[in-house]
Amino acid sequence: MKSKTFLLPFFLVFVSALSCQMANNQKVNNWAVAIHGGAGAMIPDDYSQEEVAEYEAELTTALNIGITILKDGGSSLDAVEQVVRYLEDCPLFNAGRGAVFTNDGKNELDAAIMFGKDLTAGAVAGVGDIKNPISAARRVMENSPHVLMVGKGASLFASQNGIEIVDSSYFYTEKSYQALQRALERAKKMGTVGCVALDIEGNLSAATSTGGMTNKRYGRVGDVPIIGAGTYANNSTCAISATGHGEFFIRYTVAHDISALMEYKGLSLDMAADEVVQRKLVEVGGEGGIIAVDKWGNVHLSFNSLGMFRAFATENGERGVGIF
Ligand code: ASP
Repeated sequence: MKSKTFLLPFFLVFVSALSCQMANNQKVNNWAVAIHGGAGAMIPDDYSQEEVAEYEAELTTALNIGITILKDGGSSLDAVEQVVRYLEDCPLFNAGRGAVFTNDGKNELDAAIMFGKDLTAGAVAGVGDIKNPISAARRVMENSPHVLMVGKGASLFASQNGIEIVDSSYFYTEKSYQALQRALERAKKMGTVGCVALDIEGNLSAATSTGGMTNKRYGRVGDVPIIGAGTYANNSTCAISATGHGEFFIRYTVAHDISALMEYKGLSLDMAADEVVQRKLVEVGGEGGIIAVDKWGNVHLSFNSLGMFRAFATENGERGVGIF
């Protein structure tokens, strides 16, 4: 398996900046935001110039939503929810509107959100009629004593809490349907979405939303709504949102493992993330990546797949968008 964390020049600059910042263990950014739109075996030949431009434009618009909220002193929780809502509404990605199909031709969406200040979290799994699962996850976090709700119970709870319910035909996109057909021949649509953010109050948040894996067996739940696997935020360490082959991210508790390496071993964000994504997961064939921001405002994006749709911005003006 290939390992390519930083392919673009801006990432190289960014990484060296990270190293010296971490050495001082000081706040380097009062706010920072990173987003992903899924990781996988994408190569430039698979995309036309127009398609690349379209993905980059959507990532940029989503990034700008987060930047505006954080710059205005808004909370990281609002930033990650609003960014992910935007990406859920965009049919290009495998979340919300563009969710992929299960093997029985339906859509079962998963999402989770977590607030690093008090370790509160909310998630929904296997829902097929909630327009924006990330907002339902936030309601579970804020309006219920639970963390994870599934299926019909989650939908009923969401509708009782003011979340928009849609007919399941809303999730039909030709692209996802074709992805299912190709999945039967082993291709798949990438595009889980996620956002992590640090706000000027020092609070970290993480949010992730997905349609899961194309052609998954119906009833299957991936890593995204499992707190500590695909989504995690803790003000004492970092916020993480993952994308990739969910079963590996669950078994290796990827997001919490990165946080734990920082908390118990004192590793920097980039060392902790790369230990898990570039070593542990690679050794067992767990393909995918993560986006992360730590309590100091450092951002790190790491993936062991060929590509990951991604973007980031910090208070200091560092900024980038990339795919391959
Ligand atoms: N992690 C997601 C899942 O396993 C899929 C993905 O990120 O592509 O459900």
